[in-house]
Amino acid sequence: THFGFRDVPVDDKQKLVGQVFTSVARNYDLMNDLMSFGIHRLWKRHFVAVSGVRRGDRVLDLAGGTGDIAALLKPVVGAEGEVVVGDINAAMLGVGRDRLTDRGLVSGLRWAQMNAEALPFPDASFDAVTIAFGLRNVTDKDKALADMCRILKPGGRALVLEFSKVKSPLFSKLYDVHSFKILPKLGSLFAGDANSYQYLAESIRKHPDQETLKGMMLRAGFGHVEVRNLTNGIVAIHRAYKL
Ligand code: SAM
Repeated sequence: THFGFRDVPVDDKQKLVGQVFTSVARNYDLMNDLMSFGIHRLWKRHFVAVSGVRRGDRVLDLAGGTGDIAALLKPVVGAEGEVVVGDINAAMLGVGRDRLTDRGLVSGLRWAQMNAEALPFPDASFDAVTIAFGLRNVTDKDKALADMCRILKPGGRALVLEFSKVKSPLFSKLYDVHSFKILPKLGSLFAGDANSYQYLAESIRKHPDQETLKGMMLRAGFGHVEVRNLTNGIVAIHRAYKL
């Protein structure tokens, strides 16, 4: 498949993102480990550790794809709590559900296909909503952030884990080589699909930086937003509170 990602009109972005994730779903976990040298596992652990999610909470994990975040959240919310995994892509949801079922994680977990821009939930129905490495794929991010705020109870938190802007210039150079030279090669070697990984590298560069995303979250209706960088800003965690 060829993805002409540079010239796609905004309306087609959703279709393109659909093709990319259907194409990578099966190799997604292996590729994450290869591309990040396994560090994505540490980022995700840290993300859930600082999420403030507690026993008994009802949490929506958006763009939950292959279930990594849900698997970490479930033991935290316990039997009294619930984790709903929402993703727009059926292939990603299928891989995630199978994987977590194999690990015995079934009860208190729900899987549902949905678009982050139009969440199928009533107002004030979740204690927390998480989205890890998902927001940059969403076409209308302002709409998605506003809807995340809408479904949260007052006092609830939205947590975004996403690639962000690297802080040091030297690190930034190395990171560019990794993203644009090594990553597409890994993609073609291990997943037979260089284009999808080229898309991923470009989508990371286009994503709003730390301060821009913070501003977007405040405009979407959140009362207070905290940002922390991990690994020199390769990724950042935004923690936003609904007042
Ligand atoms: N959260 C998982 C993780 O951290 O490993 C998966 C992240 S994966 C890079 C991005 C996911 O976002 C894909 O599963 C994709 O289908 C999903 N996605 C893209 N656009 C979406 C949208 N508009 N609404 C919901 N999910 C979306």
